[in-house]
Amino acid sequence: MKGINQPRRVFAVAIAMAGTAGLASRVFAQALLSEADPRAKALGYVADASKVDAKNFPKYAAGQNCANCALYQAKPTDPVGGCPLFAGRQVPAKAWCSAWAKRA
Ligand code: SF4
Repeated sequence: MKGINQPRRVFAVAIAMAGTAGLASRVFAQALLSEADPRAKALGYVADASKVDAKNFPKYAAGQNCANCALYQAKPTDPVGGCPLFAGRQVPAKAWCSAWAKRA
């Protein structure tokens, strides 16, 4: 930061650090949902829809996944997105849970 006096340099570094901390907190807030999460287990969530236990979830049909679910909070082409059933976590587009509902 050549040409910046000391107080301005300290201020610039503080701003940069605050930005980094904000980015880190957003990254943590967007962690992927784990299949081991109790909320996920309760709804038969799997990170890969091809791994659905069709015996336990007979309503599952091939082709269903988060990307074509009405609750998926992203564009169908986005690789991950939010789901209101799993606040604070993201789900992969290819995931599935028993709350799946056809996207309009
Ligand atoms: Fe995916 Fe829909 Fe289940 Fe949410 S409700 S995890 S978007 S299938």
